[in-house]
Amino acid sequence: MLGERGPLDLGIPDNYSVAEAKRNRRRRNHRVDILNQVEEEISKLGNHQDEDMALWKLSAGNYRANFSTSKTWDQLREKKPTCDWHKGVWFSQSTPKYAFMMWITLRGRLQTMDKMRQWNNSVNPVCVLCDEASESCAHLFFECKYSERVWRNLVEGLMQGGYTAVLRELVEIVSKPWLTPIKTFILRYALQATMHTVWWERNARKHGERPRDLDSLTKLVDKNIRLKLLAVKGRGNFYTEGLITWFGTRA
Ligand SMILES: [Zn+2]
Repeated sequence: MLGERGPLDLGIPDNYSVAEAKRNRRRRNHRVDILNQVEEEISKLGNHQDEDMALWKLSAGNYRANFSTSKTWDQLREKKPTCDWHKGVWFSQSTPKYAFMMWITLRGRLQTMDKMRQWNNSVNPVCVLCDEASESCAHLFFECKYSERVWRNLVEGLMQGGYTAVLRELVEIVSKPWLTPIKTFILRYALQATMHTVWWERNARKHGERPRDLDSLTKLVDKNIRLKLLAVKGRGNFYTEGLITWFGTRA
């Protein structure tokens, strides 16, 4: 018989708090083992009389009252190893089309002739810039004597004794702070601008346009670097040194 209280009334007085409930509860033995484990965990919490509260899990064993979007995302996503060259590709004031093209290259997705030949054996694999060796990423950046010359013309003054034209070494250099912050920025930018322009010249030649000589291509990249440095000059002391540094190394 449900009596006068009705079906939903459990007979708990209105002023019966959660803390009081905890105080009054006694440990029980259950037939289902998981419930015994729950009892065990509850007993480990001790005899706290505080009210229950909701907590957010930030990481294993770490709970806080404040919600963190990034920590929650970290727990939901599948983690991959950190890419060690991302700072050399994605940096403040980079030009998106340059950064994207470098990213594609480093991911091994640039459609150079060595890759095209896997699809179609009849294509001509010879590099259109030097007309000597087979085209591949390593060749274009910068084993090719044409593109290496453009790169050397641009940054030999900046890199001095540390000059290299090996892409793997260059990526390693630009992925962490280099000599000074502004020189790091210039070298990162110069590398992306040169790679993009070399690839653009390669495509132009493939489509039958008149080849540009070394000096014209060097001047074109140089102009784009200057325009960038002019554009960011007003953004604080950091970039003000940029043009002076660049002109100083180009003498
Ligand atoms: Zn070549």
